Order: sequence, then structure tokens, then C-alpha cells
Amino acid sequence: MSSNTDDRNQTLGDAVTSGLAWSLDGNEARDDVTGIIGAMESEVSLIKAEMDDTRTTTVSGMEFTSGSVAGNRVVVVQCGIGKVNAGICAQTLINGFGAARVINVGVAGSLTKELSINDFVVSVDATQHDYDVSAIGFQRGEIPYTGLVAFPADEGLRRRAVEAVRAAASTSKVLEGRVCSGDQFVSTQRQIETITSTFGGLCAEMEGAAIAQVCFLNATPYVIIRAISDDSDSMSFEEFQEEAAAECARAALTMVKGL
Ligand code: SAH
Repeated sequence: MSSNTDDRNQTLGDAVTSGLAWSLDGNEARDDVTGIIGAMESEVSLIKAEMDDTRTTTVSGMEFTSGSVAGNRVVVVQCGIGKVNAGICAQTLINGFGAARVINVGVAGSLTKELSINDFVVSVDATQHDYDVSAIGFQRGEIPYTGLVAFPADEGLRRRAVEAVRAAASTSKVLEGRVCSGDQFVSTQRQIETITSTFGGLCAEMEGAAIAQVCFLNATPYVIIRAISDDSDSMSFEEFQEEAAAECARAALTMVKGL
């Protein structure tokens, strides 16, 4: 009998073999695979609808849809809400599906008056605002043993993301800066002040920095593209998230077509 760990690897391997739209053999196949992660259905449905030759498989309760967008290989997945889901998802994309780069799409709460609903943030880096080992000498937000408070996004992907947002959502403002992630919905002025006084940051969401950390650990380029759904006050999220999520998905599609 194999160990539990082998069983789990086998399960991932089986799932990928049966549910991937191409064969995964060698580095050549890996270089052209882009993973796209959204937390909610509204953030991924439009992208999936535009994909050709799709196959779908489920790993860790997450549905991975592989296929192509304008001839470019992509794997799109809804990871669910929060950092653990996002971390599992990114790791699975990288070592299960051979993703050579990861794009995180979705909606976010604004942390600055400069951003309104449907404006965009493209990540320069991403930090976990709820991560705090400062009581024993680390900086707030620092992930022990990495020496980092925030994980930098890939410069090439950032540039392409900004271009794609400008092309797909020409009336929206796009700012480049820090994305602040945590396992909490930011809904009060006090939370906003706590986060921005320590980390700065343009927007708050719940997945991006976990994806960034996984990508850092795997030397995999990443970028986060977020459309603003609310002012981090819990007032407008339900009203605007569908529209903002769709706008972000359109920008991601434009970006992927140009990769
Ligand atoms: N009602 C949703 C749950 C949304 S949780 C459902 O049932 O599916 C909020 C999601 O939007 C998260 O994925 C997070 O990344 C993003 N988000 C948008 N505004 C946010 C804010 N102000 N604070 C934290 N996350 C926010």
C-alpha cells in the first residue's frame, strides 16, 4: 500500500490526466499555460464562457476548467472565499496543471478615495494584513523566514494587465499598488485605517496575497487584477459585485488573448 501522501498525489495526477485539455509532458507544455483564479462564480463565469475545447475536473472541491482563449492555454478555477482556499488553488494550478503564471481576478473593496466602483487595481505587490507575528519580533505582516511583508508581482504581467484594463475598460481608472488580503470582509472605517496605517494599500480583498505567497514559494510569476465593488463599507458590495466582476473578467480575457 502507498502512503497517504502518495494516495493524494495519485488523486491529483488522476484528476489532471482525465480532466486536462492537453497532455502535460515536459517544460514545453508548461510554458504556455496560464492559471486564472477567481473566488466567486461571478468572477470566472464569463472567462469560462469564452474558452474553447474545454475539459473540467475537480480537485480539493474546486472545479478546474482547462481550454484555450484565442489559442492560448488557460486553466480557470473558482477557488472559493479566503486565503486557505486561494493558497490550495494556486499550488494545485502550479504543480498539478503546470501553470507557468497565475492571474488572480475579482472584486475588492477600495482603501482610498481615489478609487470608485468599477475602477481597477493592478498589484505591485500583495500583503496579508491579518498576519501578525510582531509580538515576537517580526514586522507586522512579515511572513517568517521569507523576510517579506509583501510579495512582488511580475513586472511583465503587471504591464500587460494595465494595458488590458485600459483596452477593456477604457472609462475606468486603473491604479497600480499594493493589494491587502485577509480573512475578513473589510467594512468599517476603523478597519481601513488599521490596514492603511500599517501597509498602505489600494484595495482590500480575501485571496490575492495567499496566491502571491504560493507563487513566490514556487518562483511562479503572478499578478492580481481587481475591480472595485465597494468602498469597504459593506454598503455597495451586493449591488455592484456582479458588474465589477464581469468587468474584471473582460480585462483578464483581453490580457490572456495577448499573452
Ligand atoms: N457574498 C459572497 C461572499 C463574498 S466575500 C458569496 O456568498 O459568495 C467577498 C469577496 O469579494 C471575497 O472574495 C473578496 O476577495 C472580495 N471583496 C470585495 N470587497 C471586499 C471587502 N470590502 N473586504 C474584503 N473582501 C472583499
